[in-house]
Amino acid sequence: MIPLMSNRKQKFDLPFDSPVEPIRLEAHDKLKFRCHKGVSCWNACCSRANVTLTPYDILRLKKHLGISTSDVLARHTVPFELDAGNMPGIKLRTNDDGACLFMTDAGCSVYENRPTACRYYPSGLLSMRAIDRNVDERSFLLIKEEHCMGHNEDQIQTVQEYREQQGVVDYDDYNREWYVIVLKKRSTGPTIGKPSDMSLQLFFMASYDIDRLRRFVTSDSFKKSYKLSENFYQAIEADDIALMQFGFKLMRQVLYGEISIPEVEGAWDKRLQERDEILRMRREIELIEFDQRKEEELADAVLGESKH
Ligand code: SF4
Ligand code: SF4
Repeated sequence: MIPLMSNRKQKFDLPFDSPVEPIRLEAHDKLKFRCHKGVSCWNACCSRANVTLTPYDILRLKKHLGISTSDVLARHTVPFELDAGNMPGIKLRTNDDGACLFMTDAGCSVYENRPTACRYYPSGLLSMRAIDRNVDERSFLLIKEEHCMGHNEDQIQTVQEYREQQGVVDYDDYNREWYVIVLKKRSTGPTIGKPSDMSLQLFFMASYDIDRLRRFVTSDSFKKSYKLSENFYQAIEADDIALMQFGFKLMRQVLYGEISIPEVEGAWDKRLQERDEILRMRREIELIEFDQRKEEELADAVLGESKH
């Protein structure tokens, strides 16, 4: 759920494929809609799901499925690019017909922990950032697709009431900093330069794979690079949300140079030196192995000749 564009362009970027032009709404605007098991289109939206996932969505799916985030990613998602600058995104995996794998005849099998985009549908969050401003602005959008009969129901509520009914307010609050990171990248584009492959890998890990991020942050090399207290390490040991929020800070630091995590002076230079040393040793080992192979080939050839 990242429908984000500079408001100078006023272009909507929907989190789901739809030929329908969206209507822009504010939180106090009224929404006439109700989805329930009795509607004739029950499950129609999940039968052609195109659901972009956020960091907090992954944490909720992890909790629901009782598996690691790496397993959630491998089993239930597919990668795509969030923007033209190769920012990695993920979507829910579907079957060949486009149906969500969590869909059952009884409805969504992960309902209590369903993703943000599913909670919002048929509306969506429209978070925008003007090129010349430093803050994001929120409004909402609504699409009225023909197949969705929920628009014919009598229930009327404000967008804000709908968000509360759907339990999406917490999701937006937890994801807010991440939206800002993605927005900043999209709105500044090439002016901040193309992120390195390593930065994009960090973005992927910190955004979606919290269990791998935990191993990274608690590794000796990370501890040697950043000044973080024992209390911090204890806090993130079992608290995925605290670690996710730390990951957002780390991304801002690495992608945009916004320093909020104290670094150990000279640690990066030392790591680069160590890396050079490791690369030099690897090259030497490869040369030794190459020489050994050549010697063995020569010995085989000589022995082969002497047999004739
Ligand atoms: S996660 Fe649930 S609500 Fe979302 S598309 Fe899949 S079945 Fe539908
Ligand atoms: S009413 Fe709309 S949201 Fe509900 S099941 Fe039908 S298509 Fe999906």
